[in-house]
Amino acid sequence: MSLTKKNLIFLGAPGAGKGTISNLLLAKVKLAHISTGDLLRAEVAAKSELGLAAGKIMASGGLVPDEIVAKMVRARLAKDDCREGFILDGFPRTIQQAELLDAALKEIHSQIDAVIYLHVDDETLLQRLTARLNCRGCDAIYNKLFMPPKVEGVCDKCGSALYQRSDDSLETAKQRLSVFYKQTEPLIEFYRKAGLLMTFEKGDPNAIVDQMISDLK
Ligand code: ADP
Ligand code: ZN
Repeated sequence: MSLTKKNLIFLGAPGAGKGTISNLLLAKVKLAHISTGDLLRAEVAAKSELGLAAGKIMASGGLVPDEIVAKMVRARLAKDDCREGFILDGFPRTIQQAELLDAALKEIHSQIDAVIYLHVDDETLLQRLTARLNCRGCDAIYNKLFMPPKVEGVCDKCGSALYQRSDDSLETAKQRLSVFYKQTEPLIEFYRKAGLLMTFEKGDPNAIVDQMISDLK
């Protein structure tokens, strides 16, 4: 299946479902998945210079500097698979990142077609974050309360062990939420004014994805 609007930004607070809904959409539509959180965690795991600097910031719930993240995304957007469309998951997160993104896309004669804002109340966000489980072997995301794996602690898809992200502790999750409201929320108005915003309220992820596909066709 292909979409008319295929260059997408997923915007939403931590725990809003950007990763989960990206994965469901990617199972139906061929798009490149660009998650800055995943890219940064890979740098941390590889103990690269970037990873060493970013790791400390991520552990505290803060944002990695705009130029660093934008440079990483710019390199990723230049790859061939992005030509068929892409999901930017977790980027941009500040107005400056949005401006850097705009410049990077102009250089490659590309543009954003739609910004998908996933809106979820704070209470649900904190419940979701502190019960979230991630797979060590693949991109799968579970939730102890709302989307448990079939076998406790084991990924349904690949059989690898599940773990809780260290920044999903209650304290760090609260910090990430406050960073979202201060630094990222202004992007909602920014993209609304640009005529790109599409808002989805909390709901069944499969239903959200079906609606999204029909809106992007
Ligand atoms: P979530 O959306 O659940 O907060 P992510 O996996 O997207 O989680 O991000 C984890 C952490 O990585 C963030 O708290 C932040 O420190 C860093 N990060 C990810 N994307 C960006 C970005 N665009 N700008 C700055 N920091 C980022
Ligand atoms: Zn897995």
